[in-house]
Amino acid sequence: MPKGVHWIQQRVDRLEPDQNQVILDNRTAVSYDYLVVAAGIQLNWKDVKGLKETLGKNGVCSNYSFEHAPYTFECIRNLKAGNAIFHNPHTPVKCGGAPHKIMYMAADYFRKHGVLNKINIQYWSGGTRLFSIPDYEKTLLEVCKRGNIDLHFYQKLEEIDGPSKRAKFVGFGPDNKEVETWVHFDMIHVTPPQSAPDFIRHSPLANSGGWVDVDKHSLQHVRYPNIFSLGDSAGLPTSKTGAAIRKQAPVLVENLLAAMKGIALAASYDGYTSCPVLTGYGKLMLAEFDYNNQRKETFPFDQSKERWSMYALKRYVLPWLYWAKILPGTA
Ligand SMILES: Cc1cc2nc3c(=O)[nH]c(=O)nc-3n(C[C@H](O)[C@H](O)[C@H](O)COP(=O)(O)OP(=O)(O)OC[C@H]3O[C@@H](n4cnc5c(N)ncnc54)[C@H](O)[C@@H]3O)c2cc1C
Repeated sequence: MPKGVHWIQQRVDRLEPDQNQVILDNRTAVSYDYLVVAAGIQLNWKDVKGLKETLGKNGVCSNYSFEHAPYTFECIRNLKAGNAIFHNPHTPVKCGGAPHKIMYMAADYFRKHGVLNKINIQYWSGGTRLFSIPDYEKTLLEVCKRGNIDLHFYQKLEEIDGPSKRAKFVGFGPDNKEVETWVHFDMIHVTPPQSAPDFIRHSPLANSGGWVDVDKHSLQHVRYPNIFSLGDSAGLPTSKTGAAIRKQAPVLVENLLAAMKGIALAASYDGYTSCPVLTGYGKLMLAEFDYNNQRKETFPFDQSKERWSMYALKRYVLPWLYWAKILPGTA
């Protein structure tokens, strides 16, 4: 915590922007001149029937649960044959790559241990395609081919029956009619549906999707000029990542200082985000792009290819960069 910051260790229960105050869950009101909202994203485990009850057992795992993430590797390590399902929900998520990078890692693990041809890997996604940028998608489609991964799109996970190892997906058929499919799994990695936190989505700060309604370039609220937002809670049409926040933070700070001085907001965020997609052991594709889905790459080579150098960057350099440079705000 930086010096001079008074850290109030209490949950915010309600936002009252017309009164310039937030109400804490002990009913204390805290007033402000300027407010920065950065409360992250909410994991809605309960939106999939049966999921909470079975998570961490019956082959149901998720890297989105701190407590249950180690069980993911247990499931992968113990699987010698059968169906391995990897799910991506129909909502925005934090780290769009996370639901599939675990699948590519699992496929490579199965290959290394000689069981890939006995395992039927399936990707069930609420999205419409594998990745929104064609060059990156091309590489990932090749990775799927290499892992014999079956792809299913437009599919919403509705229910998990842990004890009988079945998952119910609802998709849309060619005539736009809902089609229900029960799939048997031996393991399933679930990414929970996600939303803005309830205290934001039920507040006057929310846009129609529930996120903090900020201008996508200045990060200033569109109705309350003394409020700014960044990170996963902000209504920014880009992939929600820590890498994106690294570029948003300096813009927000510059514009907040300008607002305090009563001068024009000059800094602009272009939607930059980055997704280090692990595609196997020692292999990574470093996707970097902006609001227009234009590639915004850091290195002077084609980053749409899988590379060991990008794996080394993720494994050895980024953790140091995060703690030593990004958190103190110097990178
Ligand atoms: C499995 C996984 C892999 C990922 N991989 C990557 C990656 O490789 N690269 C990358 O850049 N990003 C990655 N991400 C995404 C990244 O972690 C998030 O985008 C980032 O942490 C979001 O930061 P944030 O500050 O907006 O929210 P958070 O880090 O979630 O912080 C929000 C804070 O707000 C607090 N809060 C929430 N509600 C309240 C309340 N009512 N009152 C008071 N405080 C509250 C929370 O306690 C928390 O401290 C990954 C995420 C996951 C889950």
